[in-house]
Amino acid sequence: MVASSVSDMGNESAASDLQQRASALLSRFAYAALDEHSDRDLVDLLRATEELKSAAAALQARAAATMAARDDCPAGRRSAGSQVGLARRESPYRGRELTSFATRLTEDLPRVLDALTFGRLNERRAMVLAAELADLSPEHRAEADERLAGNPSTLDGLGDLALRRAARRVAYELDPEAPVRRRQKARTTRRVSSRLSFGDGMSTISGWVEDLAAAAIMTSLRDGADRILAQDDPDDDRTHAQIVADLFVSRLTNQKHAQATPVAVKLLVSAETLLGDEDTPADVEHIGPVPASVARQLVGLSPDLRSTIQRFFVAAGSGTLVAMESGARGFTGQLRDFVLTRDRWTCRTPYCDAPARHVDHPVPVAEGGETSAPNSGGACAGCNYTKEHPGWTYTPVPRWPADPRPHELEIVTPTGHVYRALAPPGPRPPPTPEPRRIRWDGPAKYAA
Ligand SMILES: [Zn+2]
Repeated sequence: MVASSVSDMGNESAASDLQQRASALLSRFAYAALDEHSDRDLVDLLRATEELKSAAAALQARAAATMAARDDCPAGRRSAGSQVGLARRESPYRGRELTSFATRLTEDLPRVLDALTFGRLNERRAMVLAAELADLSPEHRAEADERLAGNPSTLDGLGDLALRRAARRVAYELDPEAPVRRRQKARTTRRVSSRLSFGDGMSTISGWVEDLAAAAIMTSLRDGADRILAQDDPDDDRTHAQIVADLFVSRLTNQKHAQATPVAVKLLVSAETLLGDEDTPADVEHIGPVPASVARQLVGLSPDLRSTIQRFFVAAGSGTLVAMESGARGFTGQLRDFVLTRDRWTCRTPYCDAPARHVDHPVPVAEGGETSAPNSGGACAGCNYTKEHPGWTYTPVPRWPADPRPHELEIVTPTGHVYRALAPPGPRPPPTPEPRRIRWDGPAKYAA
């Protein structure tokens, strides 16, 4: 069980010692040709850099927790979490998760934080422990922290699952009511989501529901498929799994046949692709890029879509969507559709993949911002809320009307860090500029 093939640290040397050892290795190997080193050296390098990553994760946790503690109200913690996300190149949602993990780690789990600092745990495993102990009282959590990480060697050799089970066992021993509270809390997070298409025309729909409900759904679908198979229809050559999938679609969309699901999707496609003159991929909301042939097929299936598509025009040659103006104070109708389509129905904050629920004025109307395509940005509910916190500004980067570059927002965070958010390119990629020809007649011209 104990990972003994690689030499462990052996004693509780200080974190700085570990960092010095690892950074010495890093500087020795960073630009070296690795094939000159023995496997033994390379294994030592892997272990040392892994410990450095853990030590860095501990330092990041302490930094994030310190920031979150400075503005200790829900809005302040949200703002800190979004900044942590941007700094770590993660989504704001992930940034907030990492920040609350950091707070829990530094405030309640000092032994786990030590184990991370000394490289005995990696960040993912420390998060497993923090999550498993989340429902305990602070006293019980301190006790669990001591039992699980007080002697760091008990963590050696434990995989994710073994660690999760060990933490759960301790939590249940300390507080038998914890699983009940955990179930009640978890129930409030029920939701349905879909994952980006895998590029082969298939997507995953996931329902995060109570385990009993999940069992009931699967039983009902399998029973339905069993009944269809029992009819032994010679024209039906579907497998059991295919029938279950078809029933899943037809029951949720109230259609008799899965194929008859009406196409109620938003599509962005260039006129050239639509007419078959070129094969630039199109974009579909919730799916992302789809091949040109699929886009043409979708439009062929749904006459309603033609009118939707006709509302968007592509600036000749530039590939950017043409701006539309509106006199209204809010983003409604075609302007709203236009902005959401330009931003591909996704929040504009860097690394945020959440669907855009709002069209926002980067410069607020109260500060003279107009309701126009340049002063607009798709925003998820979370980022729209974070932006209201003092210190955040979103400003459109000025563009000339014929500028082929996509719409751009400049985001300044409360610490003064600046991030740029470019809208995705239009349905046709911007033309590659002609290489500038520089005439060179040679020195002879000037010789005379
Ligand atoms: Zn967002």
